Amino acid sequence: MIVDIKSRGDLLRFIFTIEEEDKAVPSEKFRMGESECYFRLPMGVALESIHPDHIALVSLMLCFPFIGERITFPRGISKDFHDAAGVISRFSVGPINENLVSYRAPESSKPALALSGGVDSVAALAIMPKETVSFFLDRPIKRGSLYDKDAAHTSCKELGKIGHNVVMVETDLEYLRKPVGFPVDVANSSPAILLAVEFSLDSIAFGTIMESAYGIGHRRYRHYPAENHNRLWGTLFKAAGIPLNLVVAGMSEVATSKIMIEHEIGPLSQSCIRGKWKSPCLNCWKCFRKSLLDSTLRGEKIDDEGLDKLFKIEEAKHHLEGFPIKHENVLSYICERYEGNHKLMSLLKRRVGADKSDLKWLESWNPESIELIIPEYRDFVESKIMELIPTMDDSQINKMKNWDMGGMLGNEEFKVFSEELRASLSSL
Ligand SMILES: [Zn+2]
Repeated sequence: MIVDIKSRGDLLRFIFTIEEEDKAVPSEKFRMGESECYFRLPMGVALESIHPDHIALVSLMLCFPFIGERITFPRGISKDFHDAAGVISRFSVGPINENLVSYRAPESSKPALALSGGVDSVAALAIMPKETVSFFLDRPIKRGSLYDKDAAHTSCKELGKIGHNVVMVETDLEYLRKPVGFPVDVANSSPAILLAVEFSLDSIAFGTIMESAYGIGHRRYRHYPAENHNRLWGTLFKAAGIPLNLVVAGMSEVATSKIMIEHEIGPLSQSCIRGKWKSPCLNCWKCFRKSLLDSTLRGEKIDDEGLDKLFKIEEAKHHLEGFPIKHENVLSYICERYEGNHKLMSLLKRRVGADKSDLKWLESWNPESIELIIPEYRDFVESKIMELIPTMDDSQINKMKNWDMGGMLGNEEFKVFSEELRASLSSL
């Protein structure tokens, strides 16, 4: 893969040229879409001010799944970045620029956050220092998309009004992939990486929660620090002088939602990306989950009429037929606390095994995740977390580590429960 970069005015373009060994169709699920993308950088940021290692790191994220035997960066890379990239076994990177010194944050550096405006990344902002610079990846809307920018844009503007530094960068990078989406999950931090020198950044935080990092809600617990994702991206970000800073990795969606209910910036987050500001669509999977979780956390009774409406959401029906269901831990938590008799909710409760589970630990912070927060901000972030939610004790940490859905997924009884739920949903 050969990467070229062009800059004109505030537009920075990445252009990818496929070589023979590259893989334009790496799997049945997705393929390479467009062969170039753009970033609209804040006025006055010149291409020359971006560190070549940062251009390389962004290039890697943009085309990682499609690279065959090698990737050639437009401005070379430092020897240090090249050596760190040895962690990639699949292909080689280059060329090395022997005169290039790798980026190290200056004395007066600041942390960055890849902000989406949703509950998890705004919860991350709530526990980070005030000088944090948040970068919002602004997608251009193309025809046929259900995505509505209104809520996310308003969230960014409102956060700006109360003193947060939010930088919005328009980019169409998701069109490099078909179907449209991030080529790799950390690609949402591309704007922050490109502006790391400009804003003197020392790290990049994400709204990555326990479910994604530690596998909670998926088949079984995995120890993220030892996982390939961390070995690869953790190493590359560190070599680029802007290490990953996973401040909410020790929290589940239950905990971040609880923080958003209690914290003053909570009202400035919105998870639904289809509705308008303060008016979620109430017709998507996120709305299904979030509205049930919100009522549960607030101790509000969930009435049958509201449940009737929620179970009619087509996207929710589709997800609820899954076995396992996406974010099943959150549904189990909700169902554990549900005391009504609504038919579908009762079938769901039985299906997720909520009468036998004990998921109170989802409300608490996993203190072992402190190692995923960069040393400079550990004390600050930890003290903020402690003001907001409890810390897991040893028995809760054990419960978390014993998260394993294998037994349930291999159990005939639960397969029958799943079939019964599916049948009732499809008869609606
Ligand atoms: Zn929605």
